[in-house]
Amino acid sequence: MSQGLIPTAEAVDKLIQELNKLPGIGPKSAQRLTYYLLRAPEEQAKLLAEAILSVKQKVRLCSVCFNVTESDPCLICRSDERDHSKICIVEQPQDILALEHTRIYNGLYHVLHGAISPTEGIGASDIRIKELLSRLQGSSVDEVILATNPNLEGESTAMYLNKLISPLGIRVTRLARGLPFGTELEYADDVTLTRAIEGRQEF
Ligand SMILES: [Zn+2]
Repeated sequence: MSQGLIPTAEAVDKLIQELNKLPGIGPKSAQRLTYYLLRAPEEQAKLLAEAILSVKQKVRLCSVCFNVTESDPCLICRSDERDHSKICIVEQPQDILALEHTRIYNGLYHVLHGAISPTEGIGASDIRIKELLSRLQGSSVDEVILATNPNLEGESTAMYLNKLISPLGIRVTRLARGLPFGTELEYADDVTLTRAIEGRQEF
């Protein structure tokens, strides 16, 4: 063995490499997780591997709101207990999780899958805006809540949507500015997010 090479099993290296590709997992964490899994019962490793494969194989996007789902339309779109006159617009599916966690919003959602960002070359046609507009046409929706992130891209997207939706005679509101500028919805705490929804205002 040449000097400097650390002798470990190839499979161990491989798992460390793969885990290291995940967001928020640095080389040290990847190592720790790998050695943890190495010691864990085989059943646990199997469940993890199956859970990863199953999100790739079973989960798709709802054809109405573009949230992730196993059934189409998704459970939220199909629910009779939700208020179908309100649609909350978010950038990513995980934003729905954050808002649902507050338990104060009972309307529907629409996931844009991104935000308008000229610097990254993302235009209005690259996110699910066209689908939103056709969804609103002839619907009984009376309020659209713009819950894009309170950063530059999220604000531009909200302004753009307001210009398109207001003329349709639908009330357009924006989450209150209680959310600090530059944050992402996904990371906001429940209290801040609850205040932001309750304090939403005309856009
Ligand atoms: Zn849906």
